[in-house]
Amino acid sequence: MTVDAQSETLGFQTETKQLLHLMIHSLYSNKEIFLRELISNASDAVDKLRFEGLTDASLFENDADLRIKIEFDAEAKTVTIADNGIGMSREEAITNLGTIAKSGTADFLKTLSGDEKKDSHLIGQFGMGFYSAFVVADEVEVFTRRAGAAAAEGVRWTSKADSNFTIEPVDKESRGTTIVLHLKEEELEYADNWRLRNIISKYSDHIDIPIYMDHEVVDEAAPESEDGEPAEPKEPVIEEEIVNKATALWTRSRSEVEDSEYKEFYKHISHDFEEPLLWSHNRVEGKLEYTSLLYVPKKAPFDLNQRESARGLKLYVQRVFILDEAEHFMPLYLRFVKGVVDSNDLSLNVSREILQTDKAVASMKSALTKRILDLLAKLSRDNADEYQAFWKEFGQTLKEGTGEDFANREKIAKLLRFSSTTADKEEQTVGLDGYVERMKDGQDKIYFISAENYITASHSPHLEVFRKKDIEVLILFDRIDEWMMGNLNEFEGKQFQDIGKGDLDLGTMDTEEDKKEQEKVEKESEGLVERLKAVLGEKVEAVRATSRLTDSPACLVVGEHDMGAQMRQIMEAAGQALPENKPTFEINPSHALMQRLDQEPDEDRFADLSWILFDQASLSQGTQLKDPNEYVKRINKLLQELVGA
Ligand code: ADP
Ligand code: MG
Repeated sequence: MTVDAQSETLGFQTETKQLLHLMIHSLYSNKEIFLRELISNASDAVDKLRFEGLTDASLFENDADLRIKIEFDAEAKTVTIADNGIGMSREEAITNLGTIAKSGTADFLKTLSGDEKKDSHLIGQFGMGFYSAFVVADEVEVFTRRAGAAAAEGVRWTSKADSNFTIEPVDKESRGTTIVLHLKEEELEYADNWRLRNIISKYSDHIDIPIYMDHEVVDEAAPESEDGEPAEPKEPVIEEEIVNKATALWTRSRSEVEDSEYKEFYKHISHDFEEPLLWSHNRVEGKLEYTSLLYVPKKAPFDLNQRESARGLKLYVQRVFILDEAEHFMPLYLRFVKGVVDSNDLSLNVSREILQTDKAVASMKSALTKRILDLLAKLSRDNADEYQAFWKEFGQTLKEGTGEDFANREKIAKLLRFSSTTADKEEQTVGLDGYVERMKDGQDKIYFISAENYITASHSPHLEVFRKKDIEVLILFDRIDEWMMGNLNEFEGKQFQDIGKGDLDLGTMDTEEDKKEQEKVEKESEGLVERLKAVLGEKVEAVRATSRLTDSPACLVVGEHDMGAQMRQIMEAAGQALPENKPTFEINPSHALMQRLDQEPDEDRFADLSWILFDQASLSQGTQLKDPNEYVKRINKLLQELVGA
């Protein structure tokens, strides 16, 4: 390789610089994964060549023997990783090795604490890729040439992990990429045959491309010299040897694959540094033939909810890599699932467009979706703790399924977890199956309350009668919850009932006594109700006496089909103009304040007190007051009277 004079030094993108710095300074343990990352990239590059070669065979340059080669030189203190994959052009090298393309990198960097121990964990989650080379090397040289390009279009990229890299043209006869790591003094252990082989079999056995290393053999069969003189002492001969299994992991039978291999394979395809939570490996034969290997991660990636984030499966057709991030095999609400699907039915030249409308793809998607939902259901039965950990990471995402996947609504509903008045904690641990089992005699509805946060919901006055009668209520407070409940009408034949909406009807759980009491309460408070109506007027749909309250003087109830307070807030925050909700003002006539109010002879004072109670009922459900200052003035007026000012 000859170096041309046109060398150019460029700065790394800011994010890259930050990440590089962090990586070098926070990855103390497990440095050996640099090799896994570089082999993973080499394997991706070979996959890409295979794929592009389907339509343009000239890219193989008459050499279809795809391979990766690892070499070392203890004296020169180098380790070299070479592949004959797709390679990079000058522009590609600048972009791919100088910037980080992942969406949300800047946001991710903001979440770092500066505490290197903690950050190293996060960085693992982010995936380090190519830059992990700098964990063991103080200088990295990359020689690369795009498949199909002329030898003179080779590129030498080099950096010492300072803020710059240098790029210059070189002649490169062979296509693909060769990476030379100049090891740091303290990392020389990697320039060692056994060390390298060990790392490869630990992390990269599953790579389906052969990884070669040299080994020395003494050739006993070498011929003697012609004149019959004894031969020179035999020189060892260098032979190449494949050091990995080199078969695609998913093509092997389940019983032959070790858990550790499944885990490493997951890390390779997901770029996650953590182990997966669970996986499912299946071969389907019959009308459609395909193999799938699906994983549920332990931790949500930081960009799970970003529109452009990586999602979908790796698609192979008859073992040939076709597409990364084929999002056509999983619904959006299962976007955290990673894995591989290898089809025998699709054609090798499928495109994203074809995948979108292909019938086989649609039926694979529905089978794979079921597979994941069943896997999760099994986890929830077998290991509640692990399921809880899953729910914490992905519960919000799974909830989207109630609206997205009508066919699996019941399956999804069983997987949901809620806070509840029985568990009495914010953590969502209660399932609907459990709720139904605990339902009271005569209870035919699943009760829930929703508010903006746990505290507001769990302290709601609406819960008072349910607490008194020991009826369980689900407590909902995630942004998505009210929308979700709109999708779920019933569960196992039981209707859901928002206890903040409509008339309170406890059915047969209300005793004759309760009903009599309610009638009596209504009768006795007719006068108070009329006076309140006169004051609150247009602001309310109705005023009525209720027996649903025990401790609070009043509460607001919205109509059965009106939007709840939480949904309203979300819509308003999104700039939606909404017609005003007219709530019903329900009062507790047995409350001391209401009884005092009933006695108030002064109409002005009565009005002030009524507005205060009305506004308080709004506040307690987490709604902002339209005119908070009016409320404050009225309260202050009362306080002044109280302190005799
Ligand atoms: P990732 O593999 O997650 O994309 P990396 O940091 O590992 O991220 O690699 C960055 C990019 O550099 C790759 O996406 C690829 O475009 C390019 N690259 C790295 N190694 C090679 C290689 N051996 N051959 C071709 N391109 C490579
Ligand atoms: Mg990579």
